[in-house]
Amino acid sequence: MPLFINRDQIFAHQVHLLEHKLRSKEERILELETENAILHLRLADCLVKLRHDHEEETKAMNHHHQHQRQAQNETRAGLTKLLSGVQEVKQDLSEVFGVYVSFAAELEEQSKQLLEKVEQASSSMKGHSGDEVQDLQARVAALERSLEEEKERCRTERQRRQELHNTVVELRGNIRVHCRVRPVLSFDHVQSSTSGSGPASSEEVVYAISDDTVMVNCLKPGMPVQNKMFEFERVHGPEDSQDTVFEEVKPLITSLLDGYNVCIMAYGQTGSGKTHTMMGSHSSDVSSTVEQEAQQGVIPQAAAELFRLISEKPAGSHTVEVSVMEVYNNDVYDLLAKDGQGNQRRDVITTSSGTSQVPSLTHEPVGSASEVMQIISSILKLRAHCPTLVHTESSRSHLIVTLTISSKSPNALALARRLQSAKKDMQRSPQKEWWSPRCRRADLTARYPSDELLASSASSPCPSPCLSPCPSPRPSISQAPFRTKLQLVDLAGSECVGMSGVTGAALWEVSCINRSLSALSDVLGALAEQRPHIPYRNSKLTHLLQDAIGGDAKLLVMLCVSPTQRYVTESLQSLGLGTRARQVQKELPRRKSNTLKVK
Ligand code: ADP
Ligand code: MG
Repeated sequence: MPLFINRDQIFAHQVHLLEHKLRSKEERILELETENAILHLRLADCLVKLRHDHEEETKAMNHHHQHQRQAQNETRAGLTKLLSGVQEVKQDLSEVFGVYVSFAAELEEQSKQLLEKVEQASSSMKGHSGDEVQDLQARVAALERSLEEEKERCRTERQRRQELHNTVVELRGNIRVHCRVRPVLSFDHVQSSTSGSGPASSEEVVYAISDDTVMVNCLKPGMPVQNKMFEFERVHGPEDSQDTVFEEVKPLITSLLDGYNVCIMAYGQTGSGKTHTMMGSHSSDVSSTVEQEAQQGVIPQAAAELFRLISEKPAGSHTVEVSVMEVYNNDVYDLLAKDGQGNQRRDVITTSSGTSQVPSLTHEPVGSASEVMQIISSILKLRAHCPTLVHTESSRSHLIVTLTISSKSPNALALARRLQSAKKDMQRSPQKEWWSPRCRRADLTARYPSDELLASSASSPCPSPCLSPCPSPRPSISQAPFRTKLQLVDLAGSECVGMSGVTGAALWEVSCINRSLSALSDVLGALAEQRPHIPYRNSKLTHLLQDAIGGDAKLLVMLCVSPTQRYVTESLQSLGLGTRARQVQKELPRRKSNTLKVK
């Protein structure tokens, strides 16, 4: 068979094959192109990411570098500073070293000079003979010995002088006058004024120039200064503390247990320091308790001393009662009365034995000084106060605190006093029988309870014969308790009416005060002149204090004086009263001889 191969067919077939190949190639190309495109995309992605990472990395690197650079800068600055510090220290050191070197040289120079001087001195010493030195030493020893002897003699003399002084005081009588010049205080300047060419009112013109003398500069415009001197038993200056003032008062408390009635009164114009002296100051300017105690006045300190003395006696042998009175507008008020404010007014009577009594006066038993002070403080607010120009809290009444001491076993001195007092009473009324109808006791007991009379017999240490149970026989001297009283008086201000600038009702108040104080002055004057009649009854104040400023009671007038020119008239008036009081010649205390008699 012939083989017929169509060439066209072959070609067609080949074409077909080629076409097929072409198509598959094209497909492959397409595939590859797609793949290429995908790879391009990925590449682009990668490139973007790569760039981003690179950027980040660059940024971090930059930051790190910046940080590093900053740290380097700081370190460099620190180092520079340190270096300059080191250089400064170096410089200082070199300066110090320079000073040290110059000092060392100076020291060496000085020690050299000193050595030379020592050598010179020792060589000059060698010039003196050993005898001379011994002689000198002996003379020094002798001088020291004689100095000691002189000191001893001086001590003895001082003691003797003190004893003589006490004797003089005793001889002078039972009235003693102390004076206290207070310091210039802030209110003296506040109220200060100058009138024309005259001296400034806050100028200090009153001085405590010694233990017993006060000097007042009397300044008058156009006149030379005139100095007035006043002498008292004791004068306290502005620097004297409350304790110093009380030290001088203390012996009177002992007298109280020796059978004497004692009265301590503060006299002076308002603002002169009477309440400060008698009660003390509890102002806000004193902070600590110690300071407050140091500010305690005569009343708390006297109460404390009294209870201290009693504590040395047999237990239960002494009892103390307190009563507080006020003399206001010439009326006596019992500030301890429980029966309301309206019914506190009391009478003052004179008993047949010549002593004054306040019937129905309240007596509160007390066991300690603090109890006394509690009672006084609680009622002090009742005191009549009225502001005046002188001192806004001025007291317009006399305050009298009385401590009555009853003793079951009085000491020998007190017994002697009782005996003496009884004798005096008998002499005073020799015709009177104990049971005589002339005895006024019946009268008195009808008006006042008997124990009241007995209690109030304190003013006369011995119960008066007329007060003994009548008509029973005369009681034994040692039977009834023995009573003495301590009266502590804060008087109202002694300024003149014009000075205080008061009018109306207050004028009456002031005139009552002035009258009572001039009655006090009159009583002292009458005693000084030894007049037969002493005008005690001219005022309630003197009537009430009759036993304390007459008889043989012991009275201490504490003159309180302001130091400034403004109050010089009042100060001179107070000092005048004190001088008058000192002239009182009273019967001499007869303690010593009586003690012997009793034994
Ligand atoms: P008075 O009672 O005489 O009117 P005060 O005792 O109230 O006077 O004294 C007036 C003021 O002066 C008070 O504030 C008181 O504390 C003060 N004072 C008085 N005396 C002294 C003194 N010796 N030292 C310090 N202050 C005093
Ligand atoms: Mg006062």
